[in-house]
Amino acid sequence: MDDIFIHELQLPMCIHATTLPDSNGDFTILLNSLLCRKAKQKALEHELVHIKKDHFYDDCMEIADEESEANDFDNQSKVTAYIREIR
Ligand SMILES: [Zn+2]
Repeated sequence: MDDIFIHELQLPMCIHATTLPDSNGDFTILLNSLLCRKAKQKALEHELVHIKKDHFYDDCMEIADEESEANDFDNQSKVTAYIREIR
């Protein structure tokens, strides 16, 4: 539970990354392999904020609000520290 798997694969350029929750409570983040390193990092941070903020289990929150929370700079800095830990 709460494991995060990160896979890179070729996706259409309009999709930077997407996260798939599974029934065990784990998450798989699919990162677009066509992105440059910096864009991958940014997309990964964005997806990790969604996971950390429980956006996949919070049905009360509007998608637009979840997106702005995931794009929030402070939240992204917090998950950047988290990514360093798991590497
Ligand atoms: Zn998002």
